[in-house]
Amino acid sequence: VPEAKFSVAGNVVLVIGAGFSKPFGGPLLSELLDDAVCVNSRAEPDAIETLRACLVPRTASGVAGPLTVTPTLEDVFSALWRERHTADLTTIKDSVWTARELADQLVLHLGSICAKVRFDQRRWFAPLYRKFLKRLYTNARSLTIVSFNYDALVEDILENIGLRYSYGTEKAVRFADGIVRGSLKRFGADVMVFKPHGSVNWGICRGCNKATPGMDLINVVPGVYVPPNRASCSFCGKPHMETAIVPPVLEKGPDLRPFEEIWKGARRALRRSKEVIVVGYSCPQTDGPAISMLREVVGQFKRPRIRVICGPKGAPATYETIYPHFTDEKAYFEQFLDTKFGG
Ligand SMILES: [Zn+2]
Repeated sequence: VPEAKFSVAGNVVLVIGAGFSKPFGGPLLSELLDDAVCVNSRAEPDAIETLRACLVPRTASGVAGPLTVTPTLEDVFSALWRERHTADLTTIKDSVWTARELADQLVLHLGSICAKVRFDQRRWFAPLYRKFLKRLYTNARSLTIVSFNYDALVEDILENIGLRYSYGTEKAVRFADGIVRGSLKRFGADVMVFKPHGSVNWGICRGCNKATPGMDLINVVPGVYVPPNRASCSFCGKPHMETAIVPPVLEKGPDLRPFEEIWKGARRALRRSKEVIVVGYSCPQTDGPAISMLREVVGQFKRPRIRVICGPKGAPATYETIYPHFTDEKAYFEQFLDTKFGG
């Protein structure tokens, strides 16, 4: 038997970003407002236009000049999120939006796009994704996945290969389906999945009275929880949960209580891990919480094995500042999989 071209050992954390979903049609951050992507959006066209206008280079004073910066959609999302509770209006090109309305439209946009990203088994690389995750699960002492994606692609694949997953502590995230909850209780999870930015299949019940006092409860619904889905909380019956798609860059905040548990869980898993594989996560230099989370794996007395698979141009510069040593695979993920599992 030839030696496996790919193996892992110990506690393993797989970190995934947009590049993991890209082969299955997931858009990259820079493409989120492109016409081709917007075809699938349920957000109002006028809201999309307003969001596009927010991405124009500007200075703090609002006038273009030598000190202009171009905000990313992440910046815009975070700013809208912070301003949601104010009554300020954004007037761009004659349309008037409150921060809350525009944030809701952006969430609807992201949700309706990410809901389309599914595990399509007709793609040539689909069996390779399956083999990769199976190998990780079989070789690792424990497998944790940290996903910065809103789509539920990796969960789709885990279900497809028959692995039970949990989103961390039941305190914060609970499956609405009693059968799933029962089997997790009886057999435990094969894989932990932490999603610090939320997920298309989650709904947040604010101040749920079946949660720990003072906590919100995230319901994991079958399918997706993006408007027009207006399901009630499966635990307390309260109508209209909130969509659980939150901006990057924020780790804490009044509306992010259940997410603090998720961040903690992900940090703990990284601290304990011996091996980290990063797939298609660009890790912007401005994302302090994500950077400090990824750094948790580096300890004084251990030399973790870290591999980054972020396309042929290699790992983004941020990784040089995060890790003293790592292997840069310099390949698209599907090419990498083909080398290791194809043929
Ligand atoms: Zn509830």
